Amino acid sequence: MTKPVVIVGAGHAGVQAAAALREEKYAGRIVLVGDELHVPYHRPPLSKAYLKGALGRDSLALRGAAYYGNQGIETLFGDRVISIDRGARKVELASNRELEYEHLILAVGARARPVPFAGTDLGGVVTLRNLDDADILKRELDAARHVVVVGAGFIGLEFAATARGAGKDVTIVEVAPRVMGRAVSPQTSNFFADAHRAFGAELRLNVGVEKIEGNAGRARAVHLTDGSVLSADLVLLGTGVVAEDRLARDSGLVCEDGLVVNARLVTSDPDISAIGDCSFHPNVWQGGEVRLESVQNATDQARVVAKRLAGRPVDYSSLPWFWSDQGDLKLQIAGLLVDSDKVVVRGEIARRAFSVFCFSGDRLRCVESVNRGGDHMAARRIIGDNIALSPAEARDPSFDLKAHATRHMRERA
Ligand SMILES: Cc1cc2nc3c(=O)[nH]c(=O)nc-3n(C[C@H](O)[C@H](O)[C@H](O)COP(=O)(O)OP(=O)(O)OC[C@H]3O[C@@H](n4cnc5c(N)ncnc54)[C@H](O)[C@@H]3O)c2cc1C
Repeated sequence: MTKPVVIVGAGHAGVQAAAALREEKYAGRIVLVGDELHVPYHRPPLSKAYLKGALGRDSLALRGAAYYGNQGIETLFGDRVISIDRGARKVELASNRELEYEHLILAVGARARPVPFAGTDLGGVVTLRNLDDADILKRELDAARHVVVVGAGFIGLEFAATARGAGKDVTIVEVAPRVMGRAVSPQTSNFFADAHRAFGAELRLNVGVEKIEGNAGRARAVHLTDGSVLSADLVLLGTGVVAEDRLARDSGLVCEDGLVVNARLVTSDPDISAIGDCSFHPNVWQGGEVRLESVQNATDQARVVAKRLAGRPVDYSSLPWFWSDQGDLKLQIAGLLVDSDKVVVRGEIARRAFSVFCFSGDRLRCVESVNRGGDHMAARRIIGDNIALSPAEARDPSFDLKAHATRHMRERA
């Protein structure tokens, strides 16, 4: 039997890699190994519609269960790769099985960042990374009265909005001075801080967690570094993730903030690629190496690796974009936030529908849109195709961004 392409991790990146290989007419064997028992599923709804109960389990699947067999993709779900023998080009699985590979794709994602305070092993203290976590969180949320969210990043804030929507008493604790501080401009950050206060959450910025106190094995209070104490029967740790790099490090692959890859997503071993949340890759939009956590990044990187394995190599150069749903607010981001020297707002912040355009020199680098999907779609084209746009045009509500992008694309075609 020929040696397969083995894909480790059946999340957004791994499943897309398998699918894209077939789309690229790769005819060899493909084995997809995933340590979760579920049919691979969409992760974003776990902190949004699924948590609220607006979307059922049946709607989460990335592909129907029959898809894999129909495409000749061999699946090993509920099994885990525990080591890589790079010399012999084979992996060992928790089930004692061994798999030789022609090429290995690591799509192992990320894991919750360890936190430096005590009490995280208590009942009622949860992280949200996968479907099992979401089911636990749903049950805990139903029973909870006082919810503390540690970390005001995307997932923490999405959960906080859902918990407020369910009528819970919610406090958000963030050690930084701003919410989503690493990802969005001060304008957008301040807007969301006010929005969460208006949803009814208490926001505690610039303060850390000292410890989580328990009673009979369950969380009962969160002690903050300023000496204050918050009642809590449910604590969500939304303190970010780190790359799932243990397998790679154990096998001697070069890692920094994730598995180091080149522009074609090849690791320090030419027989191994790394894609998605685990890859630390050169990104033309960042102007350096970066690790990104988004569905766009995972699926576009998967397509790039599939093209290379099918004999049509390309560099990874997709424009990053993201979204986050918080209560009735849809935030969409096109591009990456870099140091910007000019920021203009289109629309009205007070009306909860606006976009923040961040320029660096004369170049538009990032657009954050709140409840303005049209701006976001146009911005993806304008930034992605490097179409000139002045701050005055961006700010002017009568300037048609979509028509501007379309006209330039036509002229270039
Ligand atoms: C709650 C939540 C909400 C999110 N919301 C958004 C959003 O709104 N928009 C957005 O763009 N992104 C969002 N993200 C981020 C997005 O889901 C990730 O960027 C994306 O899932 C990354 O895909 P991936 O395949 O790299 O990793 P994952 O989807 O995490 O998949 C990795 C898989 O590999 C498995 N695995 C790890 N090690 C092994 C091993 N040794 N053997 C076998 N299997 C292994 C893991 O268990 C996991 O199933 C969200 C993430 C979460 C958790």
